Amino acid sequence: MNLGRKVREEVARRARFRCEYCRIHDLDAGFPHQADHVVSVKHGGLSGLDNLAYACAICNRRKGSDIASIDPVTGELVALFNPRQQRWSDHFRLDAEWIIPVTRIGEATARLLGLNLTERLAERRLLQSLGRYPSG
Ligand SMILES: [Zn+2]
Repeated sequence: MNLGRKVREEVARRARFRCEYCRIHDLDAGFPHQADHVVSVKHGGLSGLDNLAYACAICNRRKGSDIASIDPVTGELVALFNPRQQRWSDHFRLDAEWIIPVTRIGEATARLLGLNLTERLAERRLLQSLGRYPSG
C-alpha cells in the first residue's frame, strides 16, 4: 500500500515519532518506521488517518495483517491493541525494560508482536540507559 508522503508524515508526527506498539523512537530503530494499517486492507481497513498507526518495522512485520489472536489459556479470540481507539497505558505498563500487558488485549498484542523478546529487551535497556526510551 503506497500512502502519500503527507499522510505518512502526519502519522509519524501524531505518534511523536515513536512506534505506537513498542514505543521505540524512529531515530533509534535500525529500519525506518512504517504507517501500519491497524485494521489491514485485507480485512476492509481503509488508508485514512483513523486507521493508520506508526509502527516500527519489527512490530509491523510481526503484526502482518492480523487483527486478533487466540488466547492460549482460554482459546478465545482476542482483538489486538488498537492505537486509534485505545490508550497504550490502559493496556500496557513499563516495568524497567519490560512492557507488561495489563489486559487480555495487551497480552495478545505483546505475545503476537514479541514485545518482550530477549533482543528487544536488551535494546530497550540500552536506550533507557541513554535516556532514549521512557523508563516508567
Ligand atoms: Zn514497535
